[in-house]
Amino acid sequence: TLNVPDQPIIPFVEGDGTGADITPVMCKVVDAAVAKAYQGKRQIAWMEIYAGEKAVKVYGNDSWLPEETLNAMRDYVVSIKGPLTTPTSGGIRSLNVAMRQTLDLYICLRPVRYFQGVPSPVKTPEKVDMVIFRENTEDIYAGIEWPAGSPEAQKVIKFLQEEMGVTKIRFPDTSAIGIKPVSIEGSERLIRKAIQYAIDHKRSSVTLVHKGNIMKFTEGGFKKWGYELAKREFGAVDIDGGPWCKLPNGIVIKDVIADAFLQQILLKPADYDVVATLNLNGDYISDALAAEVGGIGIAPGANLSDSVAIFEATHGTGPDIAGKDLANPLASILSADMMLRHIGWDEAADLIVAAMQTAITNKTVTADFVRLMDGATKLSCSAFGDKMIENM
Ligand code: ATP
Ligand code: MG
Repeated sequence: TLNVPDQPIIPFVEGDGTGADITPVMCKVVDAAVAKAYQGKRQIAWMEIYAGEKAVKVYGNDSWLPEETLNAMRDYVVSIKGPLTTPTSGGIRSLNVAMRQTLDLYICLRPVRYFQGVPSPVKTPEKVDMVIFRENTEDIYAGIEWPAGSPEAQKVIKFLQEEMGVTKIRFPDTSAIGIKPVSIEGSERLIRKAIQYAIDHKRSSVTLVHKGNIMKFTEGGFKKWGYELAKREFGAVDIDGGPWCKLPNGIVIKDVIADAFLQQILLKPADYDVVATLNLNGDYISDALAAEVGGIGIAPGANLSDSVAIFEATHGTGPDIAGKDLANPLASILSADMMLRHIGWDEAADLIVAAMQTAITNKTVTADFVRLMDGATKLSCSAFGDKMIENM
């Protein structure tokens, strides 16, 4: 647990594109909730730090992700950020990836829950209440790959054929090559956090989602190591001869194949609770689930290491609506809700969720929701924030 002062310094990155619309609204809503919940006894001291286009403006050429920003995120332990564009120069693949790698943010956390009245394409969205733990550093997603026909790809192919005895697969000269590293350590630390989360939040199950039927050593390893860890470190015992098992407090550890899981979350979402999965599966699953409960405008997230937590909306910079005061600030506001709970300020977080629920129930929402709700009143991004504060 964190020892949080009454006036914690929390660094924030405004973000590119819609970041300039949503981040100030998020801060304003959080300030109002904190002031009301603690009658002025607590207050966040926001500290602006820079990444993305604003960093280039402040720090000059190609400083998309200044050292100072990374240091602040590390030193202040908890921070919040807006979406960032992918740099067009400077040789960085993605700022989010660089941030994750530098700070070893190995958990991508995505809560997926339904709020009454939110437009949803599924029949029983109210049954969706999951928390996704996506491994964030390994897997085919780690970016170890070489283009078709490149000398590197040719070299790997030669190695596979001549030294590793891979003879059944044809490798045309046009083969691009990607590598899928999945380690015991990397899988265990993610699954350990997922199980601990389930215990701390009195959840009913942890599901390991994988494609171990096909990729036996990587995805299958993830599943196997997960069960072993549950038994070794958390005292789980087999249910009916396994492989499912159960913790002493009744939490069930189970697994499901990823493709079946994507069907199940549509057909029987109530069967799933905490989910632990590898990087690529987690990417698909998080977005599919977000769509069930209101989509990109309302999906919050966090990137966590053992010490650092960075909260962020999961959407991109929305170039089509940026700077027009149109964006839905809820993804950012719900990320702040997660952040407040992370530092133990649940009373303020509860006020935020209640104010948001009132706004949705009264159908006073931003453009993205108006399109999907009958008889709704359209508010700008900033007016929506003010409406939430009024609702408090
Ligand atoms: P990036 O390259 O930064 O990911 P993108 O072009 O992929 O940008 P996203 O931000 O991922 O755009 O958005 C995809 C769609 O969702 C866009 O049509 C965008 O307008 C919409 N969208 C994104 N964020 C919001 C938001 N906060 N509120 C409403 N709509 C949004
Ligand atoms: Mg995008």
